[in-house]
Amino acid sequence: MRLEGKTALVTGASRGIGRAIAKTLASQGAMVIVNYNGSKEAAEQVVSEIREAGGTAISFGCSVANPQAVETMMKEMISQYKRLDILVNNAGITRDNLILKMKEEDFDAVLNTNLKGVFHTCRYAARQMLKQKAGCIVNISSISGVMGNAGQTNYAASKAGVIGFTKSLARELASREIRVNAVAPGFIETEMTEKLPETAVEAGKSQIPFGRFGKAEEVAKAVCFLASDDASYITGQVLHVDGGMGM
Ligand code: NAP
Repeated sequence: MRLEGKTALVTGASRGIGRAIAKTLASQGAMVIVNYNGSKEAAEQVVSEIREAGGTAISFGCSVANPQAVETMMKEMISQYKRLDILVNNAGITRDNLILKMKEEDFDAVLNTNLKGVFHTCRYAARQMLKQKAGCIVNISSISGVMGNAGQTNYAASKAGVIGFTKSLARELASREIRVNAVAPGFIETEMTEKLPETAVEAGKSQIPFGRFGKAEEVAKAVCFLASDDASYITGQVLHVDGGMGM
């Protein structure tokens, strides 16, 4: 129980990687706020599964791309629980297309959720963590943000932005030992990658030294490590969880 007594917010935790992160943090004793955008039922299912396993969780609907909604969520959460020990910025979307076909609205939607969403939550989290003189943030980037990926100029830009954001915030908060790290998953089996055409799946697998997609739980374990005191001297880092794809 490495996270006993900690309060954690996981954005986009109704399914996929976020769901696995929420369940893993809860299994280590954290009280988890399961954020979602549209999937209320799925988020409530995650909460039920955590409670059935003996953990503590609540769900909170709010789009991270909406600054007013994020303000309400963060203020309500902090007023109710008085602390925020762990923030995991996981919410993310794709709107893939080649540059000649990419619409401005698709570029903006991806940047607004994947990068500005991180800014919106971190503003409130940093204030609270500075007050507490403790806390840590884990941002979910992507191997696309490190290596680039054809058809993902918007997504790769947002995820590369998350890396720069993570390192800058880590420097801003380091004097209080508030840690800020990123995890860069490779191809992981979730609804996001289910949308990929078979040719892209095969092309993806051929680039992975392990020869397989990862599982959400494999990302969650890395996040849990960075969120725990086991990572007490680690900040500003990007941990690749990608079966060797980015090495
Ligand atoms: P997913 O299965 O599509 O799930 C996305 C989650 O994000 C859902 O819970 C969704 O909630 C939530 N979300 C989307 N927009 C949101 C918003 N505006 N506000 C709050 N929540 C929002 O995706 P995933 O594969 O688990 O990906 C999770 C994270 O890992 C993303 O940041 C993604 O970019 C990153 N990642 C994934 C892979 C991969 O191969 N799967 C690889 C590298 C990085 P609702 O259902 O309620 O909308």
